[in-house]
Amino acid sequence: MHSLTLKSPAKVNLYLACRGRRRDGFTEIVTLFHRISLCDRLRLVKSKNGIRIHCRNPKVPLGRANLIAKAFHKLKDHKPFEGGVTVYLKKSIPVAGGLGGGSSNAASFLAGVNKLYNLRLSRGVLCRIGSGLGSDIPFFLNGLRHVMAWGRGEKMKAVPFRNKLYFVLCIFETGLSTGKVYKGVIKGSKKLIALTKVTRDVTMLSDFLEHRKSDEASRYLRNDLQSVSIRLKPAIRQVLFCLRMFTPFALMSGSGPSVFGIFKRKTDAVKAAARVRKAAKVRTVVCQTY
Ligand code: ATP
Repeated sequence: MHSLTLKSPAKVNLYLACRGRRRDGFTEIVTLFHRISLCDRLRLVKSKNGIRIHCRNPKVPLGRANLIAKAFHKLKDHKPFEGGVTVYLKKSIPVAGGLGGGSSNAASFLAGVNKLYNLRLSRGVLCRIGSGLGSDIPFFLNGLRHVMAWGRGEKMKAVPFRNKLYFVLCIFETGLSTGKVYKGVIKGSKKLIALTKVTRDVTMLSDFLEHRKSDEASRYLRNDLQSVSIRLKPAIRQVLFCLRMFTPFALMSGSGPSVFGIFKRKTDAVKAAARVRKAAKVRTVVCQTY
């Protein structure tokens, strides 16, 4: 095999609770990841040596700062192999949008190189390599669509989810730094939410969404990063307000600024996307559970 083309999907966080600061400086979170059909595309081509990344999006770093390059070097450290990789990356997932684009790219890359060079590394080993680079990477490597995660987001349990949801994503021109948002959360830390409550909320939320009961599900809306992100980018509040005219379930994903609304029917999502685009002057994309 000389080359390989892969899809690299985005995620939304249907729920995100912060549970204090850990000894390693990271924030302890409990979240519900949901994989969506908005995908980047990666073409991997074998080369003589090293890693080279081509991408037309000027916001994507092409050197060592790219998570794909980091994944390449970490993989080589773990399992040295002859040869390199040239990556042609086509971005559709907004950069620094809270949709896990960089982590997803790194996860697809690790799985792809494992195949391309027939390295025979297990998923568990790839997850260990990936988790040091980005907390969302194990989620994307696991190939599951709906997962409850905790720790930094790297420990996880699949939650059965057979239904399909439609999403209107509202995408901003400029992103937010995940680190800056988490710093703001630590500063303004409130009383800790009990783990039993979080687990029960996630289970209830999942159940209502599985049965596409958005009204009931919206009782469990939670993203503890949202208020900090709104402080950094007040336009998030306006977009949320606008989305809520069409669905009770509207929330920011991850550290934002991307915001999503959930719909049962595609036609409703398409209509809402057009109206929100006009009213809030924001780019909208309709996608679904993937
Ligand atoms: P998360 O939701 O995991 O916090 P995000 O979706 O908010 O992540 P990314 O799109 O992953 O954010 O980008 C975060 C930063 O990582 C960007 O500012 C960018 O400079 C850098 N980056 C590194 N590799 C990539 C990549 N392959 N694609 C996009 N951004 C990348």
